[in-house]
Order: sequence, then structure tokens, then C-alpha cells
Amino acid sequence: MTSHLIYPSTNLNAIEQLEIVGGEGIYVVDSNGKQYIEGLSGLWCTGLGYGNEELVETAARAMKQASFSHLFAGKFHRPAVELAEKLHELMPVNNASVFFGNSGSDGNDTLVKLINYYADATGQPQRRKIIARERSYHGITVAAASLTGLPANQKHFGLPVDALGILRTHAPHYYRGQQGSESEDQFVDRILADLEAQILSEGPETIAAFIAEPITGASGVIVAPESYYPKLTALLKKYGIWFWSDEVITGFGRTGNVFGCTTMGAPEPDLMTTAKQLTSAYFPLSAVAVRGDIHAAMLEQCGQVGIFGHGYTYSGHSTACAVGLKTLEIYQRDGIYQNAAERGVKLQAELAKFADHPMVGEVRGKGLIAAVEVVANKETRAEFAGGDGANRVLKHAQDNGLLLRNTGGSALAFCPPMIITDEQIDDIIDKFGDALDKSF
Ligand code: PLP
Repeated sequence: MTSHLIYPSTNLNAIEQLEIVGGEGIYVVDSNGKQYIEGLSGLWCTGLGYGNEELVETAARAMKQASFSHLFAGKFHRPAVELAEKLHELMPVNNASVFFGNSGSDGNDTLVKLINYYADATGQPQRRKIIARERSYHGITVAAASLTGLPANQKHFGLPVDALGILRTHAPHYYRGQQGSESEDQFVDRILADLEAQILSEGPETIAAFIAEPITGASGVIVAPESYYPKLTALLKKYGIWFWSDEVITGFGRTGNVFGCTTMGAPEPDLMTTAKQLTSAYFPLSAVAVRGDIHAAMLEQCGQVGIFGHGYTYSGHSTACAVGLKTLEIYQRDGIYQNAAERGVKLQAELAKFADHPMVGEVRGKGLIAAVEVVANKETRAEFAGGDGANRVLKHAQDNGLLLRNTGGSALAFCPPMIITDEQIDDIIDKFGDALDKSF
């Protein structure tokens, strides 16, 4: 540990530091040689686990061939073109066109800019507003953090939320948002009625898009009731508002389908953000997609409005794109999507058994992403002060050789590598069950 390193999103006074020095399969190893199951795939990103030689060799080969090549001013290279074609094939966005960046955050910034550029290019300068949800996480760059609905990512940063025209609506979190004896469907109808009232009062013609994580990850793995997405997308369609699926966590197999929007009943997004599992975190890369006709309109108008003046030095880094292509090839060739779907059924069934535990408020998830929300009082659903209960479980789990993450203050998140086996899921369940009992 050094005092000259500024750590991201960390309160060093409140946690014990852990130096990770290696990894193999679903496991990582600390500097004392202790092995842990990486129960969160690092930061929801190492879908193929650690030590994948094929990806390492792909990166080395790409670097030897051309340590850097870019996509500015007419330059291009095969890995970027091929990866764009592959994503075009895979993504449920109609006739998708793809833009590359380095992270989920900068991907979301790209789409904020693209929405604004499109508004000017198509002569609708008022159509710039974006609706985002409470308790959402869309990243931490200036525009992405403005979309994010978590106070800790917004406070003290002087973010241009109003200047960017970002509007806020409810999170589809029934367990915490339910009023009285409201059913799930009644909850959905109420929050969508509020949304419709907001759209009408703002003016539908001023709203370009609605951004949502199909399953909210970083703020507690929130799974919307079944009727939410079909009703939401019908409402957006009625007012000509684009549905923007932020698949930075849910993309590439995590929820039991290739994309989370399919799992959750919003199968035709207009815009999409991906990153993380796109390269299984072996190299930073994001890919955002827009409908083909949106791209076509931009191309048609750029002679008049000027070029889309946006791009990162590493937009379409050749090594990143080569690693992305190989990752997608392995997912398909080795049946990783299928494995995630099948092992996901087991993970959800095993975790559901903890629902009766006196310290568990709710168990939720889809595929290989889940959360167990711990509570101080099961009846009132009261949370532990300062996330204390969840942090106790985390500590015991870590002692047992299982790394998890406390998300949203009291929800312990599970998101293991998608190469996991049934036996390894049993091991997670044993280690977690013991940690829960010791924390009670
Ligand atoms: N969008 C979602 C849904 C995320 O979960 C994250 C990160 O966890 C981001 C965007 C930001 O991605 P990055 O950390 O790569 O900038």
C-alpha cells in the first residue's frame, strides 16, 4: 500500500486491503498465497475468468503486428471492422452501427453526445432530454455520472445534470418502492403512470431517450417485476422516445441470454452500451450501438452540420478489438452463453434457499447475476446502519475464501465468471451460508 496512490471509489479507513497477485479460472490469489473464488468476476467483467492463454496470446499477437492503429480520418484496421460486423450480427439493435471507446462510462458519454448531434443534424434541436432512473449506475465521467442516479457519484462534482437535460424517474425496485399492500403489477402501473405524466409535462417532443440497465447492477442488482419492461417500452414507443439499454454488466451472456434486454422483455433497444465482458476484461474496450437509420441520418447530414466531432485516441484500439473478437468467438465456440444460462438456474435456486434466513430481506437475480439483501429487521425491512450487516457477511465470506461486493448499501452481489461449474456454485453456497450464519 502506498500513500501516493489515489484509489477509486474507496474509503480506505473502512476496509481491509487485499493484494491480489494472480488468478486462474474462477479463482484469484492474494500475496499470502490464499485462494478466493472471485464471486463478482472482479468488477462484473471477467466472464472467462483468469489466465485464459488464448486471450493473452491474441493480445500479444495483435500488439506485435501493430502496437497501435486508430480509426481517425479514414484510417482503419481489420480487427475494428470485423468486430463491428460481429456486433452488428449479435446485437438486437436494428441494423446496428457501432462506435468504440475504452470504458462503459465513455460509451455512455458518446451516446449523450450522439443524441445531441442527431438533434441538430435532423433539425429537432429541442429533442435532447434523457430520462434516467433513481438508483441507476451509468458510470463516472461527467456525462455518465450525470445519468447515474446515486448521490455518492453526484455530490461534490458540479455535474451538469440540468444543462444536459437529464430527467429522473423511479427505480423499478418493488421490494423497496412498494406502497402499502400494492401488488407488483400495481407498483409497475403507478411508477409508469408517473413517468407518462412527466413525459407529457416536459413535452414528448423534447425527450430523446430513456436509459436503463436491464438489471441494475452496482446499486443492488435490482430486478424489475415482469410486466415493467414490456409496458415501459410500449409507453416509450407511443411517444417516440428511444429505449437505451445500458448492457455494460448485463451484456454477453450474464443474465441467461446474450443481452439482458432480451431476458427482461425489452428485446429491441434503439441504443445500446456494452463494455466489460466484451473482452472479458483482458483489455479495456467499450462498444455502443445505434439503429442503422440513426447512423444513416448522421451520415446524410454531416456535410451540412459538420463532422461528429467526437472520438478517443483509443477508439477501436487494434489490440482491444482483436481481444474482443476472440472473446466473442470463445463465448460461442465453447458454449459459454449456454453454460451461464444453465449454471444460472442453479445459482438462483440455491440462493433462493436463503430467503428464510432471519438476516435476509430478499433474494433476487437472473442467470449468473444475483443479490442477497440483508436486513436488520425482516418485518420492517429496516437496513443495518451504514451497511454494517452486509459488511460483516462480506468479511466472513472473504475469510472463507469467497469475494463478493456490497452494493446499494445492503445487497451482497454475486456475479461469478461464466465458466463456473455446478460444484463451484455449491462451494460458493457453502462459503456464503457459513458467512451468513456467523454474521447473525
Ligand atoms: N454502465 C453500467 C451499467 C455499469 O455497471 C458500469 C460500471 O459498472 C458503467 C456503465 C461504467 O463502466 P466503466 O466503469 O467501465 O466506466
